[in-house]
Amino acid sequence: MGDVRRVRLLIIGSGPAGYTAAVYGARAMLQPVLVEGLEPGGQLTITTEVENWPGETSILGPDLMAKMRAHAEHVGTEIVSDIISSVDFSSRPFVAIADSGTEFHADAIVIATGASARWLGLPNETRLRGRGVSACATCDGFFFRGRHVAVVGGGNTAAEEAMFLSNFASQVTLIHRRDELRADKVNQQRVLNNPKIQPLWNMVVTDVRGDEGVTAIEIADARTGARQDFAVDGLFIAIGHDPATEMFRGQLDMDADGYILTPPGTPLTSVDGVFAAGDVVDKHYRQAVTAAGMGCMAALEAERFLARQND
Ligand code: FAD
Ligand code: NAP
Repeated sequence: MGDVRRVRLLIIGSGPAGYTAAVYGARAMLQPVLVEGLEPGGQLTITTEVENWPGETSILGPDLMAKMRAHAEHVGTEIVSDIISSVDFSSRPFVAIADSGTEFHADAIVIATGASARWLGLPNETRLRGRGVSACATCDGFFFRGRHVAVVGGGNTAAEEAMFLSNFASQVTLIHRRDELRADKVNQQRVLNNPKIQPLWNMVVTDVRGDEGVTAIEIADARTGARQDFAVDGLFIAIGHDPATEMFRGQLDMDADGYILTPPGTPLTSVDGVFAAGDVVDKHYRQAVTAAGMGCMAALEAERFLARQND
């Protein structure tokens, strides 16, 4: 067995939700310990310009996260480079065991483990991410003013991404592998009635082309396999996200997609004293600022929970 560490507030995850929870937790004198995980700084460390973080007209994602980390440390957060591999929320203190063997025994926990976009696994997809291949229209749509973009997927996210992009792009091609959208009827109608959006049914994307930016995609007919190139300036992939919640299965209530369930407008989970914030609970907004807001709420609730224990 490794070290046993007794902590008041344990925060799992170092994205905007985790760092914000840390800032609030530290300023409430909870001496938070934050375990940063495999991706220190979270999803924004894999992007370039962020142009929707209030107060920063434009900032590189890694720079924004370095500032958040420095802020969390400055107010007294201890940041630990480790990965939590299992948890036990069945009794208090809660137990979280890290890869290194360290056992954290915590009075309260904020889960901020985030989510990751599903990608198609195309040969040139990773190389062109951030150069025309994106999984976030809200983040990157602005860069495609007057351009032709393709959106892949048939769910609510794809429908909403396509509609959002139609505000900027000259043309949006919605590519779906079947001939019927999975999105809600109201979203289907909006997409199909939007003159800027053209659906391309029964097609799969098999590759993306370009050097500095996307110039075309290769698409294949899902029924015949016949391939062709299709000129576009951007490719938005909207085939779903995976929340990082595997280790909480059976311990916390989750929805069918693995998102931690919290009553609307709260960071409360099904276990009193365990709070969740950010993309790990949110399949709708998925923004740095919303994750940060939820991190704040989680820390405030943790503070109230801990105060109640001392009553
Ligand atoms: P994340 O940022 O996903 O962080 C999760 C954290 O949890 C990571 O630090 C990870 O290491 C940690 N973790 C996971 N599992 C464990 C574990 N077992 N143990 C310990 N730690 C763990 N949003 C915007 O507002 N503006 C943008 O311009 C923008 N651009 C984006 C560009 C890209 C390419 C991507 C992918 C996303 C973008 N987003 C943008 C979305 C934004 O990044 C997310 O909404 C936000 O990062 C979610 O924050 P989070 O704190 O919930 O989780
Ligand atoms: P989703 O509902 O799982 O839809 C994913 C879509 O991507 C499906 O159409 C699927 O095709 C397609 N797809 C999956 N893998 C693919 C692949 N490898 N290649 C090509 N296409 C692929 O995911 P989502 O749209 O992100 O939504 C997730 C959840 O959040 C859903 O419950 C959704 O209702 C909810 N949500 C709701 C709203 C809202 O209510 N406004 C907004 C966003 C999300 P098939 O249809 O053929 O399976």
